[in-house]
Amino acid sequence: MKIYIDGLFYPKEEAKISVFDHGLLYGDGVFEGIRAYNRRVFLLERHIERLFYSAKAINLSIPLSPQECSEAILETCRQNEIEDGYIRVVVTRGVGDLGLNPLHCHKPTIFIIADKISLYNPKIYQQGLKIRTVSTRIPSHSSVSPAIKSLNYLNKILAKIEANLSGADEGLMLNQLDQITECTSENIFIIKNSTVMTPPLSAGLLPGITRETILRLSKELGLKTEEKEMILYDIWTSEEVFITGTGAEIAPVIEVDGRSIGQRLPGEITLLLIKKFRELTQRTGVEIYPS
Ligand code: PMP
Repeated sequence: MKIYIDGLFYPKEEAKISVFDHGLLYGDGVFEGIRAYNRRVFLLERHIERLFYSAKAINLSIPLSPQECSEAILETCRQNEIEDGYIRVVVTRGVGDLGLNPLHCHKPTIFIIADKISLYNPKIYQQGLKIRTVSTRIPSHSSVSPAIKSLNYLNKILAKIEANLSGADEGLMLNQLDQITECTSENIFIIKNSTVMTPPLSAGLLPGITRETILRLSKELGLKTEEKEMILYDIWTSEEVFITGTGAEIAPVIEVDGRSIGQRLPGEITLLLIKKFRELTQRTGVEIYPS
């Protein structure tokens, strides 16, 4: 495996970042998770755009243009002979001193890993997941905004620990107003009265690229969609539930807080959206190996 760090490629064992990097010392940085399917990088431009928005939001200036970033990602895929895989792009504030002042970091660090990812047991895509509401809340936008894909994931990790300890596959997180937001690294959808619904960005969630894709595919299928503030009652009484993310793709949910969803099987609309999403991933994206 070859890892990209600041313009050069290193074997995995030699791919090292300074212990004075503020990404490590303070979680000061941003990242993206992107998938490659069938020798193409799926929605690459949109991921690069979100990376630059996240960086802008934390006042971090990425020392590459979006075009150069795309090229570095594609080259990392080529170096690793990726056909299908998962790409992690990380930009940190860079090496500084032990104080947190970002002014002491003179150059951001960029690294890119192209590998595989498997978040859940593959059988959950047929059988469905169990999720549980956790006590760790999503912070308000006046804290580290949940819209920023920053290296600060401790809230999510605490939520995941709690979900794991309770025997659930995934944790459902509420905001400070008791509204549904998202899971630990997936957005959430519910289907009620045949309407595909998901919480709005204002509730406190990452503007998920899979979420956008599912909203678009639902509209194309003629389904009614709604971005709507929701409380637990809404999800407990829904017909279908699924979660979306680059890593998770579309994972059906069959139980929320001990309540069965539908017939405890992936729902009809969920299965249709999974099919449409798979078709889309197989035929679109930026070619890694242009002929
Ligand atoms: N929410 C959070 C907190 C995430 O980390 C992710 C994964 N990037 C998502 C939602 C899903 O976003 P996407 O579909 O863009 O991967």
